[in-house]
Amino acid sequence: MFNPAELIKKKRNGGALSREELTALIGGYVRGEVPEYQMAAFLMATYFRGMTPEEAGSFTELMLRSGEIIDLSTVPGRKVDKHSTGGVGDKVSLILAPVVAACGVRVPMISGRGLGHTGGTLDKLEAIPGFQTRLDSATFRSVLSDVGAVLGGQTETIAPADRKMYALRDVTATVECIPLIGASIMSKKLAEGIDALVLDVKTGDGAFMETEERALALARTLVDLGTQYGKKTLAFITAMDQPLGYAVGNWLEVRESIECLRGKSVRDLMEVTLVLAGAMVWLGEKASSIEEGMKLCQSAIWSGAAYEKFLAMAKRQGGDTHVLHDPAEYPPSAVQVDVPSRGGGFVSGISARTIGMLAIELGAGRKRIDDVVDPKAGMLLRKKLGDRVETGEPLLRIFTDDRGAAERVRREIESCFQLSPSPPALTPRVSLMVDDAGVRPWVMPAFL
Ligand code: URA
Repeated sequence: MFNPAELIKKKRNGGALSREELTALIGGYVRGEVPEYQMAAFLMATYFRGMTPEEAGSFTELMLRSGEIIDLSTVPGRKVDKHSTGGVGDKVSLILAPVVAACGVRVPMISGRGLGHTGGTLDKLEAIPGFQTRLDSATFRSVLSDVGAVLGGQTETIAPADRKMYALRDVTATVECIPLIGASIMSKKLAEGIDALVLDVKTGDGAFMETEERALALARTLVDLGTQYGKKTLAFITAMDQPLGYAVGNWLEVRESIECLRGKSVRDLMEVTLVLAGAMVWLGEKASSIEEGMKLCQSAIWSGAAYEKFLAMAKRQGGDTHVLHDPAEYPPSAVQVDVPSRGGGFVSGISARTIGMLAIELGAGRKRIDDVVDPKAGMLLRKKLGDRVETGEPLLRIFTDDRGAAERVRREIESCFQLSPSPPALTPRVSLMVDDAGVRPWVMPAFL
């Protein structure tokens, strides 16, 4: 007879659960036979005790098999996805998916909503009027087939064990646990029916893994899990020590993504995007190296092909392409205020985490699960790391309909920026690459 309390005790005492024990636990949880309080206790025991690689492998597989695995075998060509562990201003997916599709590699992407201080791709896409992210498998397949890229949300049938457990982890302080994050991410990604996967594992103040050491441990776990399933998996460690690009907030980020797809160079954002996209094009067998993939991606932007793909995808998913062509048509926020710097110097630190929290305060994210997001709300940075700022110059602009929130956020902003008398040393945006052969420093090609 299976007794959940015995399994919790075994994990609490540092033991490893067998596949049969994990099967009983996860199956029982999904069926509602193992109550939330027992699963919460198991998750907390795992948070402290970890999992062996065998346990993590079985756990991931059981989460994956708790639902449907989308069959993409009728869609021709290699299918490659990208997943980010989450950050602030991280609009990479919006740019990367059409760019990679324009290079001939199919991108079936299941994305998430904002979590904690980080933004979510689904919330950004839903800032486009009419854009549908709830797609059944048949629609998901047909958009992928016809357009080359599809961006949807996790449905009830994709890894339901993760859906349920994720919500529980969010409220029991058990998110930041490497085997649990690994199983959560990989069960959803493997359910997409992909051939290969590129992972963006973020590190820094705005990431869930604040140190490079922890980010590397997570990257290794994710790559090992992908490899166990026969999927070529590459991970990059990228910096989240300031928001990526200038825009933070759903519509503002869509707008910045459109500008980049139309050829604007936002340096840190495009560096990260092109490395990840180039790796996808290489894994999709349309380039002989990541660097060649990056050049193809640049050409797809310069030719306008990537922007056309974005419009085609938005249209097929019900989005109003009128505002994409002319973003100035989007309704403006009632309050738009610049926050001036009280001192001068060089920007030597920006707390991405605090910026993310303040964006939520403005209405760009949720404090409670049922909060309604204001798609217009957010911030546009005027200064980034290394920039010179004079006293009185704007650090950023706030966008919101909530006057009280604007005032609260305005008072807090200065604490997010550190100024120093001399220019700071800037760290690379992409530092390491991890694959099944090990870890290597990433050297940014000179053509970027
Ligand atoms: N993203 C996920 O999908 N799961 C986690 O556990 C953390 C980030």
